[in-house]
This record gives sequence, C-alpha cells and structure tokens, in this order.
Amino acid sequence: MTDRHPTDADLRGALVAANHILVREGVLDAFGHVSARTAPDADTFLLSRNLAPGSVTPSDLLVHRLDGESDDPRRPYLERFIHAEIYRRRPDVMAVVHSHSPSVIPFGVSDTPLRPVVHMAGFLAAERTPVYEISEHAGDASDLLITSPELGASLATALGSGAVALMRGHGSVTAGASIMEVVYRAVYTEVNARIQLQALTLGTPRYLSPGEAKAADQSVGAQARRAWDVWCRQVAQERNDTP
Ligand SMILES: [Zn+2]
Repeated sequence: MTDRHPTDADLRGALVAANHILVREGVLDAFGHVSARTAPDADTFLLSRNLAPGSVTPSDLLVHRLDGESDDPRRPYLERFIHAEIYRRRPDVMAVVHSHSPSVIPFGVSDTPLRPVVHMAGFLAAERTPVYEISEHAGDASDLLITSPELGASLATALGSGAVALMRGHGSVTAGASIMEVVYRAVYTEVNARIQLQALTLGTPRYLSPGEAKAADQSVGAQARRAWDVWCRQVAQERNDTP
C-alpha cells in the first residue's frame, strides 16, 4: 500500500492482508470483520461476504452501500451495519474493525474503564473508552448483535469522534483514517487491555495523562507503517508456506 490513493486492486489487497494480520495477531478469529471505504468521501465500502477472516480473498470483498446492502447475491455479514453507520457519521473514517478480541471484553462488562497504560495506545480515550449498552436500544432479550441500521446508528453515536468503543458482553469497534491505522489500533487496543489487566492484578495502574496520550498518539501512531510492513511480510510468508 502506498500513500497515493490506492487502486481497487491495491485496496482489495490491503484489506485481505488486514483480515489475515488481524487473525494472526489474535484480534479476529472465526468471527469479526474489517472494512475499508472505497475512496475519500465515498458512500460505499468494501467488506467481505460472510466468511471467516482468515479465508478472505480479494474476490470475496463486496461493495456495500451506507444502508448496509450490496448488489452482490452472496451472503453478507449480519453485523455489516456497524461499518455502514460509522462511515455515514464519520467522513474522516476510512477503515473499521469489529472484533471480539478477548482481553478487551472485561472492560465492557465491569466498572473498570479501558484507558491507555502504554505509549502504543495513546489513541485510546485518556479517561474512559466508551461502552455501548445495547439493552438501551434493543431491550433486555437481544442477541447482542448489531443487525439493523438503527442499532448501527446507536453504536456509531456511542463511538462519537473517538477511535474505539466497547460493546458490552460482545466486543469492540475500532475506527481509523486508513486500513494501516485501523489495524494498528485494533492490535494495540488488545495489547493495552492485556497489559492493563496485568497491572490491575498488581495494584492501581498509573495511566497515561491526557497530554501523554495525545503526544504518544501523534509520535508513535505516525510509525504505524513499520508494524504494517512487517505484518504484511509475515502473512505473505505464511501464505507462501501453505502447501
Ligand atoms: Zn460481533
């Protein structure tokens, strides 16, 4: 991926790599998904058909509209509305990850907020990562899935202008200005959650101050390409090693 506006083939290649990287890094498993807006200001985005992320290839990526639908007859993901409604509200967002990455879940079901404890995660809200409470929108007997534009809209509202929102008892959503950035953020959200959980077992963590989080986001976040390049090489190597 280059800094010029990517071609369709570039974008599909990067999004396939993102799927595979996020599986390799333990953010996605058989479930969860990653999408990319097709171009700046576009009302369409690429998201795989209903498939485990580790199996996604370029031809599996369907062009979705902001109503969450696609002209392709292949079966879409149930929770495609997460992506559609974030793109609708956030012109700055070019890529979205929805995951069930496990270390993040405890912070969505307890009163301990997810906060930045390491400099790699300065993009997290310094005081409290928002938690989306689905029962306020879907009642107390829902399956916790975001299966309609209305639920997607309420989740996007909970995310606000931030990078990450947690979904109680379910997972999280991460937004970024590029595929590279959203992958970096999703990976380091999981890493930060793991480290914060470890620190909480030792005592009261000292969190990054709001000023530190902002400064770290600007300097470390600008180096996301280093991680992206090595992760792309690793997944390409593993693809070549697969008989
Ligand atoms: Zn989900």
